[in-house]
Amino acid sequence: MIARLSAGHRLSRRTILGPGDDCAILRPARSSQLLTIDSLVEGVHFKAGWGRPEQLGARALAVNLSDVAAMGGTPTACVVNLAIPRTATMPFVDRLNRGLRRAARGAGVDIVGGNITSAREFAITIALLGDVGVQVMRRDAARPGDDIFVTGTLGDAALGWRILANKVRAPARARAFLVNRYLSPSARIEAGARLARLKPVPAAIDISDGLLQDLSHVLDSSRVGANLDETKVPLSTAYREVARDDLSHALTGGEDYELLFCVRTSLSERELSRRLGAQVTRIGSIRRRHGLQMAHIKLPASVGYDQLRG
Ligand SMILES: [Mg+2]
Repeated sequence: MIARLSAGHRLSRRTILGPGDDCAILRPARSSQLLTIDSLVEGVHFKAGWGRPEQLGARALAVNLSDVAAMGGTPTACVVNLAIPRTATMPFVDRLNRGLRRAARGAGVDIVGGNITSAREFAITIALLGDVGVQVMRRDAARPGDDIFVTGTLGDAALGWRILANKVRAPARARAFLVNRYLSPSARIEAGARLARLKPVPAAIDISDGLLQDLSHVLDSSRVGANLDETKVPLSTAYREVARDDLSHALTGGEDYELLFCVRTSLSERELSRRLGAQVTRIGSIRRRHGLQMAHIKLPASVGYDQLRG
């Protein structure tokens, strides 16, 4: 079965020995290395029957790619662990694997090793290696006076999840868009790499847990606070169509895998968007005083970001 996982996957010159031995062998890298790991677990991160197996394989890689993108790096190689219940069929595994390999090829990532174990629930875990870019973007580097930007639109994946879970209804076009944003997220690798070339280097994080949660990670590690204008948070047409003026999915819904970054810049949104090759929107600014102040919504001091999600 492991042989099936790696069959037909062409490897780059970086990899001296791919899957098949006890370890893979990689050539020494020219730069410092980024290393990250993430899992998708059935019942926690996805439900069986939601989307195609190919999408699941690609998504497992995308969530890792997004972490490398958030640091401004270039993904290079990964190892994969599949936990498979007895009920899983071979065609399912083959299709998942096909989606994973296609995504890896698209991102220039070598799948250099794998492991398969039987388990009660299905889970796919990927550890991903990457080269650091010109500079590294860290979440502890936000400074008072920085503007806060996000790429793309927020809350789409959360709405897609709610549509699949039959918690909300949507017209066909909006439904297709939102569900796809949830099932097939794409990591902002190119935008992240370009962002890391800005001077001064921005603080950055990918939005996997939701805007407020991930912004709070930046604020906590940088020991600063922020003013956030929630009316500036970028929403897709489909989002507006389905959720109207309810901002909660955009503020607390996760899994959009957009980038949030903080930087002091004289560049306009438009110029910044052009340079990054991605739409960016300014949603607030970093301040010295701790805490998160929103323009219209009051966050009671006792309410954590986590509770907001519930
Ligand atoms: Mg992350």
